[in-house]
Amino acid sequence: MGRLDKYKQSGDFRKTSEPSGKVAKSRRQRFVIQKHDATSLHYDLRLEIDGVLVSWAVPKGLSTDTRERRLAIQTEDHPVDYIDFEGVIPEDEYGGGTVLVWDTGEYRNLRADKDDGMDMSDSLDDGLIEVWLEGEKLTGGYALKRTEGGDKPKWLVIKMDDEGADARRNPVSTQPDSVLSGRSLDEVREAAEAGDDDS
Ligand code: MN
Repeated sequence: MGRLDKYKQSGDFRKTSEPSGKVAKSRRQRFVIQKHDATSLHYDLRLEIDGVLVSWAVPKGLSTDTRERRLAIQTEDHPVDYIDFEGVIPEDEYGGGTVLVWDTGEYRNLRADKDDGMDMSDSLDDGLIEVWLEGEKLTGGYALKRTEGGDKPKWLVIKMDDEGADARRNPVSTQPDSVLSGRSLDEVREAAEAGDDDS
């Protein structure tokens, strides 16, 4: 992925690189949700699985309301280095537009602890992922269910009923900015235009 080479990764954000290899049960791994103002605004949910960021574009972002079923379109895996990327992707490149880190943290695979003991790549193949997010904005269980296969499989992302569920919260609109830098999309874009940014 050539365009990544252009981006200097900033800071020492979560240096948790562990020895690679088969994912152990219940191992903590990282996730990110990047807010991406491209052709249309959407949120890219990325889960670290077996050394890559498995990715979904979620047009409306993730909800804290258990009654919401949000569409999530699976997209290309990204390299793990992309997990803390904020900046501007040039308009003539794939995904051109402004990106900020809307939420990030670690997650646990809830299916690993159940009877069927599924690891994340098995869950992905199976079309049902259940994860516990430890983000700054989002916490608790989320289920991803594949509803359609093909080139860009469609999934639904649903908040599970736990202490992180709250039908009155709407973090997508009330907490719009980056958890890494505190910046808005406009501020990220302006910094890039001014050349204040490494991107
Ligand atoms: Mn995107």
